[in-house]
Amino acid sequence: MRDSTTADKVHDVLIMGAGFGGLHALHRLRGDGFDVLAFEAGADTGGAWYWNNYPGARCDVESLVYCYSFSPIIDAEWRWTERYAARDEICRYLQWVATRLDLRRDIRFNTRIVAAHYDTARSLWQLRTEHGDIFRGRHFISSPGPISTPIPPNVPGLDAFTGEMIHTARWPNPGPDFAGKRVGVIGTGSSGTQLIPIVAEQCEQMFVFMRNRNYYLPARNRPLTNEDYAWWAEHREEIRAKLDSSEVFGSGDLMLGQEIRDTQGAKISDLSTAEFERIMAARWEHGGAQIGYAFRDLFASAESNARVSSWIRGKVGTFVADRNLARQLEPGDYPFGTKRATVGSGFYEAFERPNVALVDVLASPIERATAKGIVVDGTEHLIDILILASGFDAVTGALTTIDVRGASGRSLKEQWHDGTETYLGICLDDLPNFYMIGGPGSPSVLTNVVRTNEFQVNWIADLLCTMRDKGHTVAKVAPAAQQDWTARVAAAAGRGVWTETNSWYVGANVPGKKPQILAYTGGLMRYQSACNAERSAGFQSFSFA
Ligand code: NAP
Repeated sequence: MRDSTTADKVHDVLIMGAGFGGLHALHRLRGDGFDVLAFEAGADTGGAWYWNNYPGARCDVESLVYCYSFSPIIDAEWRWTERYAARDEICRYLQWVATRLDLRRDIRFNTRIVAAHYDTARSLWQLRTEHGDIFRGRHFISSPGPISTPIPPNVPGLDAFTGEMIHTARWPNPGPDFAGKRVGVIGTGSSGTQLIPIVAEQCEQMFVFMRNRNYYLPARNRPLTNEDYAWWAEHREEIRAKLDSSEVFGSGDLMLGQEIRDTQGAKISDLSTAEFERIMAARWEHGGAQIGYAFRDLFASAESNARVSSWIRGKVGTFVADRNLARQLEPGDYPFGTKRATVGSGFYEAFERPNVALVDVLASPIERATAKGIVVDGTEHLIDILILASGFDAVTGALTTIDVRGASGRSLKEQWHDGTETYLGICLDDLPNFYMIGGPGSPSVLTNVVRTNEFQVNWIADLLCTMRDKGHTVAKVAPAAQQDWTARVAAAAGRGVWTETNSWYVGANVPGKKPQILAYTGGLMRYQSACNAERSAGFQSFSFA
């Protein structure tokens, strides 16, 4: 291990990750006069999108709201081309922001942090990079992105496969040439759903190994027009306020169109069948994840959710004519939205292609991988390129797969072994001067993640400014506050249908991960109230030194 060229320098703030959260934190804190240094594992910014370079990668939240709102410069100068931005455009956006706001000079690219230790004697954080360099800082902000640690599927013998094997979140550039190739895909979540129709058009043969069937919603992507931008200029602040006022879930999409906006927030149990049908049909036609934000009781009431789930199941037949195929593709018997719904174009239709075979691995799981393919039910499917669209160790994985240690010297991995505890999803009592953007116990992944990031960045920056004004150098949250917040996260989840389904929301996709809701399900409005109350009370849950 060697010290960095900055040797004994102690920065005010070190930031791990220069995606949406990290870039904004750097901008805000630098503006507040702090000396800040950010580290990014990628060769450029782009966050999760930098790595998820698979064919068809596209955001399923509308571009007009999947972007920053903190900067009038960005609002005035950037223009999205499509309703749902493709991966390349999002990367270009963040790269442009980094240049336009002059952030690059304080970002170390190609620099992955592998350890972060708190030095109690000197009250500072010491970060080690994969190259062995050491950096020191008074405060440490973790912003690696909640969905940034890819995991392979739990398939015996995967290492024995001798063909090309690629995880969607580690896609090479340039990617493989699929012409004349037999391709296997494991995973039909958001990533698989987007990739399958594109790669199916290019390859010779595709086997889709499909376990649980997800709910699938048509995106109805289209170019953004001058009219859209005129509408946006008029409604931008109203929509942003709506994102903040979400009582339960999401609000990731715009509510373009008066009819849809009028129905926002109805309770399914109060609606007549005709009204329910009208709302569902309007949102379905509008496209995207609109249905997820349509009803106040969608996640609070199993009966209400069942009506929506059954309505969407009934739609599969509108995509594929073959009834048998439609039945095979029908979403599983679990509440809509408790596993993240997928949004895309051409996914179901891809299975009508003669070169695409659906291999059902729900009833009969994948037996093993061999050197040449995948065995299911005794049949070996020969494959040249195996695509793993198998997901992520979400929300906590980025911190438990590196060596993070607080005042006690115990690793975060050990501390979270039996479940995560945090204060507001931002702080931990054993980790002074440590702050998470998009951490467990925050509503991040269930809300508009960019908007929630911005809120957390501002809250953290306000805490640091308060400390500086009062001459404090160390902030440590009280264990009781952490316990109270953790109980509140569990209670909120207990009031709804969230924990009924095995999904990455509850860590069920990672062997050995404690089953537990990873996000605060109470909505961004309640979350902001809790954070604002803490700030207004002078950060009274913290002890300072
Ligand atoms: P995911 O939603 O966790 O899906 C993983 C898929 O792999 C599931 O279909 C899962 O099946 C399957 N799988 C895992 N192990 C398997 C095994 N041993 N055998 C058979 N199938 C197996 O992962 P993801 O699609 O990468 O998406 C993760 C999250 O990233 C999304 O929910 C979303 O939040 C984000 N994302 C967003 C976008 C977007 O904005 N468009 C795009 C990509 C990702 P089971 O369901 O049966 O477990």
